[in-house]
Amino acid sequence: MKRHEFELDDLIQRIKENDNRLVALQVPEGLKMQALEMMDAIEEETTARIILAADPCYGACDLVHDKMQRMGVELVAHMGHSQMNIDSGMPTEFINVTYDGDPAIDPVLPILSRHREIAERRLSEGSSEGEMSEEEAQERFMDAVGRMIPLKGAKLGLVGSIQHLHLIFDYKERLESAGFEVEVPVGGARLSFPGQVLGCNYSGDKDDIGHYLFLGSGDFHPIGLVLHTGKPLAMLDPYTGGAEEMSLERIEGILRQRFGLIMSCDEAKTFGILIGEKPGQMRRNLALRMKRKLEKHGRKGYLLALEHVGPELIDFYPVDAFVNTACPRIAIDDSIRYAKPLLTPFELEVVLGDKEWESGYKFDEIP
Ligand code: SF4
Repeated sequence: MKRHEFELDDLIQRIKENDNRLVALQVPEGLKMQALEMMDAIEEETTARIILAADPCYGACDLVHDKMQRMGVELVAHMGHSQMNIDSGMPTEFINVTYDGDPAIDPVLPILSRHREIAERRLSEGSSEGEMSEEEAQERFMDAVGRMIPLKGAKLGLVGSIQHLHLIFDYKERLESAGFEVEVPVGGARLSFPGQVLGCNYSGDKDDIGHYLFLGSGDFHPIGLVLHTGKPLAMLDPYTGGAEEMSLERIEGILRQRFGLIMSCDEAKTFGILIGEKPGQMRRNLALRMKRKLEKHGRKGYLLALEHVGPELIDFYPVDAFVNTACPRIAIDDSIRYAKPLLTPFELEVVLGDKEWESGYKFDEIP
């Protein structure tokens, strides 16, 4: 397997120019094995001492600036994630990590052709909406998460995880040569690059994109993208060259689990409302809004602020359920680890009757 490439030159240059003496390095979990090698490379080229911020790090939402500032660190080097719309209050160098694996597109083409047919069918059904009863239309236009799909096109949306984005326009050309109309979506302020997606943000989605190809490995981003958009999604893994699709059964399974948790909170009277302390996950206003909603419906909400969220940190509180306003993926991906139901804000609103499950699932996005 090829290795990840770290672009340390700009960081080394910046350390030299500023004569930094103490620099913190923050590295995502998947790259920690190579962290010591990076520390050696920086210390060999500069006179700075490097401190590895060794706590878990899952995104640029999780900047360690306060702690490092107290330790006397002058510069934070944050690796493998891109800048977000948060003010860290400290000089930060975001370091690109790239992976040059560029698998052939042939294995994914049959999946993409099938998904384009689905998108075109939805599009043509949408244009004959006037000839159908509302019930018929609802039945036919449902997307993968049960919404009436507002499609205006059947383009292929091409997205990827950050270490593969340097190849995205090359892949766009390859897919266009294979006959697809391709768009590389550009998202909002939380995203830095065309085609970028985060586990909590898919804001590049548009009505004229009918299906997706995700360039990356694992199903973390694909699950979020389908929950957010309801559109068919294929995956091409640059590490293995393998192609597969995010199956409808998988998404239905997640939705069934979410609905089960909502139902189990029908009689719940007391809720713990989790507020994430990490700078890019902190949604205090949303948490306060959830507390007000609970009070309005005669239920009780306790605000609990945490840096890390885990079952061992919350399960013991004498409440009936939790609603999570920290990283949205904690509720979606980890809820079976918790002894009590762990809901997203939207799901709580369904419990309280303020939102309808029947109108389709709404993914908890951080804008
Ligand atoms: S999905 Fe969670 S961990 Fe990843 S960037 Fe978003 S808030 Fe951070």
